[in-house]
Amino acid sequence: MIKLEKKMYDSIKDKYVRNITEQIKENYNKQKKKISDKKYFDQIQVKDFVETSGEFDDEKIRKLLLLDFSEINNSYFKNYLEIAYICYDNEKKEKILTEIKDDETLIRREDYCKKIIDYFNNDWVKNFLLKDNVCYKDDKKAKSRISEIKEVYSILRDKVKKEFDEFNEEIKKLIDYKLIKSDLRHEIIVSSNISICPYCNRQYISNYKKNKKTKKTTADLDHFYPKSIFQLFSLSLYNFTPACQICNRYFKGKNIKKILYPFEKEFGIDAKFGINVYDMDACYGLSDHFDIDIDINDESSNKEEIINSIDVFNLESIYQNHKTYVQEILQKKELIYTDTYLEMMNNTFNELNFTKEQIDTFYYGFNINFISNFRLSA
Ligand SMILES: [Zn+2]
Repeated sequence: MIKLEKKMYDSIKDKYVRNITEQIKENYNKQKKKISDKKYFDQIQVKDFVETSGEFDDEKIRKLLLLDFSEINNSYFKNYLEIAYICYDNEKKEKILTEIKDDETLIRREDYCKKIIDYFNNDWVKNFLLKDNVCYKDDKKAKSRISEIKEVYSILRDKVKKEFDEFNEEIKKLIDYKLIKSDLRHEIIVSSNISICPYCNRQYISNYKKNKKTKKTTADLDHFYPKSIFQLFSLSLYNFTPACQICNRYFKGKNIKKILYPFEKEFGIDAKFGINVYDMDACYGLSDHFDIDIDINDESSNKEEIINSIDVFNLESIYQNHKTYVQEILQKKELIYTDTYLEMMNNTFNELNFTKEQIDTFYYGFNINFISNFRLSA
């Protein structure tokens, strides 16, 4: 996975904010009377995201459209994001259920309920769920402790989910991805100057001219936080990752596993290509009896997100298609480039002030720092 620079949207961001703010404002003026006054989670109204003292607030919209997801300070956005994970992250659900099941200090239904709410760890949800003690009342005997815990969990999560989905439906009336017209979408991707998909680092993103004026692109605009769940962020510019269609549509889709946020993090040297060889010929690139895999640095602070990124985009599996290329690198490295040849060439490169990366790219086509040693398989 490749890191994206926020400045890649610099040339488009003002135009984007102007265009989209105008349309949200139009929606707002049309729908003003229809927007619900309900306080979701007993805390927040949809209007709070778009207006101040009863007036449409352009500045609030600008902040939402240019929201920096690597550093969310606004408690509204933070709470919204957390609740989406409470509702839709099934791995989080399994983790909570297992931990509560294993906690023998919890005896009564009321205890499970409180503990689950603690795990949700969200201010809006906490007050909302504790208000009517929904789970305490039902004292029917469950078949087993685990089924009892599961039931309590379902009741709580369903209640949050129902509220969150309703909240999203209301937000959709004002803030929706449909406001981005196709030409603007192409313009965003073209202006980003991305030439390769940042998720898989293998599919090219190509721009082409549809007619003399308009430039189009082959890429999709992926929503890092899927728009079908994170309605509020469906128009936020730094939620958009230009990506190939395979990564966006077939692999990522609505998946909300925690992967690396490309505007903040990348694999870098924490994930390197390695190979498992099954015969000696493979060590020299003379046979294809090897597998390509990705070695992850155990010490990396991003380890979990790296594992998830590899998993979501099926990276190990799709990279098996590049064995011929790996064989070529191995042949060059192990057989063709002799020490004398390398020494002679390095002298020339030194005179040209080439960096180590530039030299590797000349020899192998890319920076071989991203390759770890190959291993012999048992
Ligand atoms: Zn891709």
